[in-house]
Amino acid sequence: MVQGQPAILGVMGGGQLGRMWTQAAQRMGYATAVLDPDAESPAGLISHHAITAAYDDPAGLAQLAQLAHAITTEFENVPAAALEQLARLRPVAPSAACVAVAQDRLQEKAHFQRCLDAKGVPVAPFASIQTLKDLQAVPPGLLPGILKTARMGYDGKGQVRVANPAELQAAWAQLQHVPCVLEQLLPLVAECSVLVARGADGSCVNFPVQRNLHRNGILAMTEVYPGNVPADLAEQAVAATRQIAQGLSYVGVLCVEFFVLDAASPQAQGLGRLVVNEMAPRPHNSGHYTLDACDQSQFDLQVRTMAGLPLTAPRLHSAAIMLNLLGDLWLAHAGMPPWDAVLALPGTHLHLYGKTQARAGRKMGHLNITAATPQEARAVALESSALLGLPLDFDVDSKPL
Ligand code: ATP
Ligand code: MG
Repeated sequence: MVQGQPAILGVMGGGQLGRMWTQAAQRMGYATAVLDPDAESPAGLISHHAITAAYDDPAGLAQLAQLAHAITTEFENVPAAALEQLARLRPVAPSAACVAVAQDRLQEKAHFQRCLDAKGVPVAPFASIQTLKDLQAVPPGLLPGILKTARMGYDGKGQVRVANPAELQAAWAQLQHVPCVLEQLLPLVAECSVLVARGADGSCVNFPVQRNLHRNGILAMTEVYPGNVPADLAEQAVAATRQIAQGLSYVGVLCVEFFVLDAASPQAQGLGRLVVNEMAPRPHNSGHYTLDACDQSQFDLQVRTMAGLPLTAPRLHSAAIMLNLLGDLWLAHAGMPPWDAVLALPGTHLHLYGKTQARAGRKMGHLNITAATPQEARAVALESSALLGLPLDFDVDSKPL
């Protein structure tokens, strides 16, 4: 860093994750550079430098590397070759190799199995579907199942539920015969995720376990407070996530998603209650509560990992509930949800990402609710949901485990 001039940190991708990372970096005095194909990306709009270029555009990448002293990514589908080009000139965290594993469900599962088999946290029973022969050889025990594209899936996109071999065949045609993974449909009673931040020196810190509710394949709510999941499951999930990060020599923020199975189901008898689903090589939607409920947010720690700053264990200081705000809300409220009424409730923190176009399913923002107790957080979450017209019933959506 030149004296008097801030160092510049860079990010591939200018969506909401890039925007919240930008805000964290700027708060620490860094200048920022964002590369995104959209000239009006949420992060680009607030960054010191915004490069409008495709993720694989060599000139755009060269410009980013010239500007930024260290570079990270906000999404996993950035071409690995682009990260490699950047890494020849600047420190890049997470590395292209780690991102490549997270881009491919088959590689990801193989890594989980290498790291976790001894720890008793399995992946869902699955088959790799690359050819018609693979499809025909699927054991009947994997059905009913979910056919997922091996690459490029997110928010439940690129997934089809199938009940029998005929549906499986039709689903693979629907997915254009790209390489896929067929997973057994598991009896979930809950989902959770764990975020860790790992530095280049191997130091690793974790956030508490997040309990997540999905609707239509998209995260709808995250709840975090002591006891949100049973302590033995929480410990297992944290240990597994640390192991996964260590096994990759990972540098940066990593999120791993888990399923909790119905204890009475035959699958839980065979697999155990905790199954590892997938990972994201970046901050995660389920970690947005950290902005208001922890003394370090997931974005603060992302900045620290890439700047080589020390990592201290983040502390949850409030019970927290995060409600995702999708474009549907704007459509239902003719352009403007009733924020004044929501913000009149105690402990509400509104985060909007600066997206001007609301579309169904589009992540427009989130509402964090912090409180001294889980009961108070839940009461405010129910009131907020009622005002916004979001369905929420804790007896159904978050049953005791
Ligand atoms: P993300 O937005 O988290 O990247 P994704 O599109 O990559 O999501 P997954 O996390 O694999 O997809 O699946 C989305 C959701 O579908 C899960 O959170 C879970 O609710 C459900 N699901 C996925 N796999 C299974 C399974 N094997 N059994 C039961 N439910 C599943
Ligand atoms: Mg997922």
